[in-house]
Amino acid sequence: MIRLYGLELLRGLTITLGHFVSSYTVGLRRTFKNRLRGHVRQLPTDSGIFTVQYPEERLKLPERFRVLPVLIFDGKEGEKWSSQTERCTACGICAKVCPPQCIWIVQGKDPQGKPVPKASEFYIDVDVCMNCGLCAEFCPFDAIKMDHTFELGGGERGASHIFDIDRLHVSTEYYGKTHPKAWADEEARRKTEAEKKASRSPE
Ligand code: SF4
Ligand code: SF4
Repeated sequence: MIRLYGLELLRGLTITLGHFVSSYTVGLRRTFKNRLRGHVRQLPTDSGIFTVQYPEERLKLPERFRVLPVLIFDGKEGEKWSSQTERCTACGICAKVCPPQCIWIVQGKDPQGKPVPKASEFYIDVDVCMNCGLCAEFCPFDAIKMDHTFELGGGERGASHIFDIDRLHVSTEYYGKTHPKAWADEEARRKTEAEKKASRSPE
């Protein structure tokens, strides 16, 4: 057993040594290849230096990469959300579980002034949000999800960093494109639940 650990340790040290040496040569190799091909190549991320020349070069983000939450409405990219397509029911669970308490929700009302299960206002203070994803984990209506967008800097730390309901909403089409696996899993779960419900309902 000790011999096995020793071998694994040696293997790990060899990999580290390979990266160390490669970090001195990858720049030279890249410059040479760029000159030959006349364009900027994506740096290999499994050898040599573990960085890229951002923003010219970008790594592909993993699907589970998360930055800020977005609200989901049923529709296509380019469409505007409406009270018919929004998924949020203003239940308030996300606001309750949010550790830094950076979500504010105002429940919608019908023309007679009675509360309806819709949000008329929804705010997230993105300077306070700690990107934990708990709001998305706890939402029972798949109405709030974590998004990939991270280029949000503007140097201003005032009202523009409190995202409102218009800024927060994205379409299901957008979410399906950016999170294909999670979207496919969700669709399969919804289909199974609908089938179960249909089989339980009386003829
Ligand atoms: S986003 Fe989800 S958890 Fe938050 S209020 Fe809307 S429905 Fe409830
Ligand atoms: S990601 Fe975490 S901190 Fe940000 S709004 Fe959701 S629960 Fe709050």
